[in-house]
Amino acid sequence: MSLQINETMLKSVVEDVLRKLGESPAPAFAKPQTAPKPASAPKKVSKSGHGVFEKADDAAAAAAEGQKQLRKLGIAGRKAVIDIVKRTCAEKAKEWGQLELDETKIGRIEHKIAKLVGIPGLPGVEWLEPRGMSGDHGITMEENTPFGVVAAITPVTHSIPTASCNIISMVAAGNGVVFNAHPGGANCAAEAIRHFNQLFEKELGLHNLVTIVEHPSIDSFNALCASEHVNLLCVTGGPGVVNAAMKSGKRAICAGPGNPPVVIDTTADLNKAAKDIIFGAAFDNNLLCIGEKQIFVLDAVYDQFIQAFKAAGAFKLNDKQLETLTKQVFTFKPDGGGCSHPVLSRELVGAHATTLAERAGTKCPAGTELLFAETDASHLFVQEEQMMPMIPVVRVRNIEEAIEQAAISEHGYKHSSMIHSLNVVNMGAMARALDSTLFVKNGSCMAGLGVGGEGYSSFSIATTTGEGITTPDTFTRRRRCVLVDSLQMY
Ligand code: NAD
Repeated sequence: MSLQINETMLKSVVEDVLRKLGESPAPAFAKPQTAPKPASAPKKVSKSGHGVFEKADDAAAAAAEGQKQLRKLGIAGRKAVIDIVKRTCAEKAKEWGQLELDETKIGRIEHKIAKLVGIPGLPGVEWLEPRGMSGDHGITMEENTPFGVVAAITPVTHSIPTASCNIISMVAAGNGVVFNAHPGGANCAAEAIRHFNQLFEKELGLHNLVTIVEHPSIDSFNALCASEHVNLLCVTGGPGVVNAAMKSGKRAICAGPGNPPVVIDTTADLNKAAKDIIFGAAFDNNLLCIGEKQIFVLDAVYDQFIQAFKAAGAFKLNDKQLETLTKQVFTFKPDGGGCSHPVLSRELVGAHATTLAERAGTKCPAGTELLFAETDASHLFVQEEQMMPMIPVVRVRNIEEAIEQAAISEHGYKHSSMIHSLNVVNMGAMARALDSTLFVKNGSCMAGLGVGGEGYSSFSIATTTGEGITTPDTFTRRRRCVLVDSLQMY
């Protein structure tokens, strides 16, 4: 299957959707001006009903009932559900993108819209392929069957897109879903679930196939982990929730944190590398887990790359400005054992580059998408997953040092990494050293999810538990059905 799109196509799809909504297109991928200020307070949306539940166990029990109804509708019913989700994400991309931005206050509106516009490209029921065997002892069929109910934990960085993506993959596999969203993005997620359910009810007579806890918390997460109605967990988030899920006793598919490094060697096309990095690292203000977070450049091409980076629009912070910003982005929390560890300021996660520049004590040109600063490899901006459009650039002596430092900065998450190089030996060495789930050569991180590269997308990349980019297949059990000897047909 080819779901290949590039940046230009993505822009044009966003514009097309906005046109179809009967409005003049917002400037697709418009340059950000200042930090987003909601025009009005976030809409108060969800009250119980249409899949929205106060209690976690009630939400899980209802999803189990919903899944039984889905079974009666067969594969056609799953497909109909997915068609509704895909159609609705495209139709409501602008409204829901704004709703999510108003609530979470992080990222860029044009990219929130783009993420929803991309949902129709995700794989559905057609992805599930049974495997057949036939021989002297009969006929065997291995097929994919549902787990039952999946409890999905979603991040604040892409609340509605992750929920929509999870519904497509999990329902394609035949499951019901109960969501525990991040509290910071729970209202918009509940609004989407409510709306989906209204359509499922009206068009398919299905009730509560996907449900959500109205006021999610760690308690509601624990209740879902303990619920007899939940058969599988799918966690998309940082280290805390991944650890909690792994200790829960339930089987968990964990799409965990990343800190993706980029290596640039002497054979790279530096101008292309600069543009690719800006596209990936500035997308939604670097909220993507796959987004480029730190760059290691070989000494021989370092100065040329910095020139190319500036020419492509990245704005450089000097040492003093970097220090000023770093003090605001990271604070230190004592760990009780006489040491302390850095804590990321949530206030600046997903902020615009212009806002970060102001906080650093400078002003960058309006429309600047990405800041950078020259640092050493141990800098906090290199080692921590900062999720904001300020990328550190580190000078390294040779490819060995570049790969070694890239691996250290990735912390063994095995998430994503990028290299810009025409040297296959260097590519191979980096692939082996980092062993990341996504490894993009000569493209932006987005190419790893089918934007400018070949392949399909997903908002849950199961790095920690190894399933990779989640698809409908990820949420199925394998079942073998055997007909012995005399029942064979030949
Ligand atoms: P987060 O870890 O703060 O929250 C993620 C979810 O887990 C939320 O629903 C939150 O309420 C819940 N949660 C957090 N700690 C918990 C705990 N101890 N017990 C139970 N639930 C808990 O992450 P975030 O800020 O929402 O999202 C950003 C993080 O998610 C980054 O680390 C990013 O790399 C990661 N992420 C990974 C993927 C992937 O596909 N691998 C995709 C998106 C985001």
